[in-house]
Amino acid sequence: MSMDKFKDLIVYFNGGFVSWDQANVHVFSPAVKYGASVFEGIRGYWNSDKEKLFLFRLDDHMRRIEFSQRVMRFGEIAPAGPLCDATVELMRRNDFRASVHIRPTIYLDEYGESSARGPIGQFITAIPRGTPEKVEKGVRAQISSWERISDRSMPARAKSNANYNNSRYAGIQANIDGYDAAIMLNSRGKISEGQGMCVFMIRNGVAVTPSVTSDILESITRDTVIILLKEMGVDVQERDVDRSEFYDASEAFFCGTGWEVTPINDIDGSPIGEGKPGELTRKLQEAYFDLVNGVTEDTRGWLTEI
Ligand code: PMP
Repeated sequence: MSMDKFKDLIVYFNGGFVSWDQANVHVFSPAVKYGASVFEGIRGYWNSDKEKLFLFRLDDHMRRIEFSQRVMRFGEIAPAGPLCDATVELMRRNDFRASVHIRPTIYLDEYGESSARGPIGQFITAIPRGTPEKVEKGVRAQISSWERISDRSMPARAKSNANYNNSRYAGIQANIDGYDAAIMLNSRGKISEGQGMCVFMIRNGVAVTPSVTSDILESITRDTVIILLKEMGVDVQERDVDRSEFYDASEAFFCGTGWEVTPINDIDGSPIGEGKPGELTRKLQEAYFDLVNGVTEDTRGWLTEI
């Protein structure tokens, strides 16, 4: 696939700013050989009325990449502060006037073997990305036959690149079977999360989501959604969730930086509620997009204005 569409973009790479083509990692690095790297996905929303780009929860994402490095036992840690500064500078240098997806990565560089803990390398890319159609239309989800990695095998709560080989299987199988997305069960047979997003259901008027000990990534959007739902007067439960509870849900949705708030219309071929995005999900979407786009007042200091 041609990368021509990205060729004019600038990349933050190991302390400097380089062209897209110059941002290369060596074939012999532990990052390439063993997937020894951690990353983040961050959204920037372009508000055309205000002519400003708003980065959502930049500090929280960079704190999480620091956390992921610690959990993955990196011997040297790239701290959050300078990564935030580099991101802001990257936005200025690329002069974006569109919504973007930002991806910082800290990786093991040079030539170590699988137990290497350093040295680290770092880069941040940013590419234009809008909101996909599925956010409006909703998706069909499958409970995957692939089990979510457990904390006894790989730390699911770290955003480690290697973890995504697990969700890759689930996502591919869902697509082969004609679904848009997968939901994985954990090693205890409880609902865990989607292949790159967390999951909620509305059952008996209460919003329910698997707890952070369900082998999920400790999602920043999940945290945002819990706060927004509570503000809307909805009770929220974080607990173990059984698969069959979803079959009785009146509404369900995915959430994540990439998936934003995406309605789930059916699971395993059974419609959720009326099989279309529910009322509460629509209300939540409105609150979420007003927040990230800088339409509602940013009372929590979650937006970085460029
Ligand atoms: N789970 C996984 C496995 C993910 O990759 C993501 C996306 N980062 C999420 C959940 C959602 O996390 P966040 O809201 O922090 O983007």
